[in-house]
Amino acid sequence: MRSGLQSQLEPFLRKVAKAPESALLLDYDGTLAPFQSQRDQAYPYPGVALLLQEIVRDRRTRVVVISGRDATEVLPLLNVHPSPEVWGVHGLQRLKPDGSTEMPQLDERTLEGLSDAERWLGYQELLHTAEFKAGSIAVHWRGLSDNDTEALRARVRLGWRPIAKQRHLDLLEFDGGLEIRARAADKGEAVRAFLEEIGADAPIAYLGDDTTDESAFKALQGRGLTILVRPKWRTTSAQFWLKPPEELLDFLSLWLKSCAQRDALNNRGIDDREIKVVNQ
Ligand SMILES: [Mg+2]
Repeated sequence: MRSGLQSQLEPFLRKVAKAPESALLLDYDGTLAPFQSQRDQAYPYPGVALLLQEIVRDRRTRVVVISGRDATEVLPLLNVHPSPEVWGVHGLQRLKPDGSTEMPQLDERTLEGLSDAERWLGYQELLHTAEFKAGSIAVHWRGLSDNDTEALRARVRLGWRPIAKQRHLDLLEFDGGLEIRARAADKGEAVRAFLEEIGADAPIAYLGDDTTDESAFKALQGRGLTILVRPKWRTTSAQFWLKPPEELLDFLSLWLKSCAQRDALNNRGIDDREIKVVNQ
């Protein structure tokens, strides 16, 4: 990791070492796993699953993967045991420990809008480009040529824009596609819901790569550490930028080390005042 970056992250990691509970909120595609044109082949970067597994096993960090995918798709790809929590469809859907999913009832206007969007895809013979989720439809163009991408983007935007407007849905582009979705399916909303569930002093970090993560970065402003994970930097509301996979692995290692430090200090009966000294 760039040395300047590590020293900037250190004050936060010191808090993780001191806190009885911390939270690590993680996007999946593009953040923990590199992009694949085959979505079912999007496995994590080598080394990521093992580090996450250790962090989950330590049990001091609440690890939540917040993905645009349907929640049930994430765990088989991630392969971490015991499993972290998974919130799907941008936080709208939660995967329960028994493998079932839980999701709020969507209002009629939203459901009608999603039916309209699906019907439009059918008329246009574009159903094969789409991923259907509870509360959302995503058209994917990953793997298409630049010309085909541009044509598909323009066509779907034109077809879906009036539906989104009329039915009060969000139309949002992400890396590799365009999505029409329920207003409540938003990672900023997910972060706000999460903040209600965790202690006000718990250190929280959010790692994401895409435009859909920006509302989460904004929702954590002044409350948590926000990190853009991306091979190339882009304009973002996140405070820091990590280049995957190396810097991502470094960050997760440092997190794990912070947890271990806490354990070691507890075992030796050293109190919080002394942790600061040990870390310096
Ligand atoms: Mg992503």
